[in-house]
Amino acid sequence: MRTFVRCVLLVPALFAACAAPPPAPAAPGPLLIATWPFGRIATDAAMAALQQGAGRLDAIEAGISEVERLSCDGSVGLGGRPNAAGYAQLDACIMDGPGHRAGCVAGLEGIVHPIRAARHVMEGTRHVMLVGEGARWFALEHQLESANVDDLPAKKQAWVARERRPADTAGHDTVTLLLLDRDGHVAGGCSTSGAGGKLPGRVGDSPIPGAGLYVDDEVGAAGATGLGENVMRYCGSYQIVEFMRQGMSPQQACEEQVHRIARKDPRGYQLDICFLALDKHGRFGAAASNGRFPFAVGRDGRSELITIEPVTPR
Ligand code: ASP
Repeated sequence: MRTFVRCVLLVPALFAACAAPPPAPAAPGPLLIATWPFGRIATDAAMAALQQGAGRLDAIEAGISEVERLSCDGSVGLGGRPNAAGYAQLDACIMDGPGHRAGCVAGLEGIVHPIRAARHVMEGTRHVMLVGEGARWFALEHQLESANVDDLPAKKQAWVARERRPADTAGHDTVTLLLLDRDGHVAGGCSTSGAGGKLPGRVGDSPIPGAGLYVDDEVGAAGATGLGENVMRYCGSYQIVEFMRQGMSPQQACEEQVHRIARKDPRGYQLDICFLALDKHGRFGAAASNGRFPFAVGRDGRSELITIEPVTPR
């Protein structure tokens, strides 16, 4: 009798256990990756923002703004590399997976946080990109922090003086930050002063959606750093996302894109470019054409730096 009662009591409990839905798989996000050692500043700031309840775009803005504020590596923000006329012209882009939205600024002068200007373009206008004087006017209209910039005649004098000297081929870097959030949506942003010694008005890959940054909420996100001329001619980041859509892992996709560009380009692997990518499954990868590439990964509340060797030429 006692056994019978026990069985009767157990049956509903067993039934309930069988009927209960299986435990949800752990969410692959949040996951953040960012270019270069200063990418850690970006991933840390973005993670801190997420922990305080910020959404995707606030996290991207927080991470990139911090690198802009510090003008890390002399490559981002107003303290970044000057152009051939001796002053910084800044490029930035932000993209959000849901809605496939993008906002960009290029050749922006005297604005401390180009990423904020790019976000205002995305969220507050019917446009995707603003450049030069118009972008600066727009940023000032939105009360973004600004600094004095030389007037045009002074810049022109600097340019003429510079032209008489050997070219300044100082380096360049970009902070590119990609995010997979807890809900499985992707977003990304980037900011740079571009190639040192560039001609005034030169725009690189960074503010061009599909070139220096690309986000697709069905697949994942990819971004670039390095010589923009060698990225934008190949729709660098777009193609990586497409490779992932076709089934490649982020690592395979980044490597494949470097090989593909090297195959076509007269410079071969001497491209000075690096890519990084993440996908909706929470996987990430990176590849460099030549030279080592350190990048930051933020997950589980902490950031680490990973350094990869350049791809082996095929
Ligand atoms: N991609 C940037 C540009 O060409 C520079 C860099 O990331 O090194 O403007």
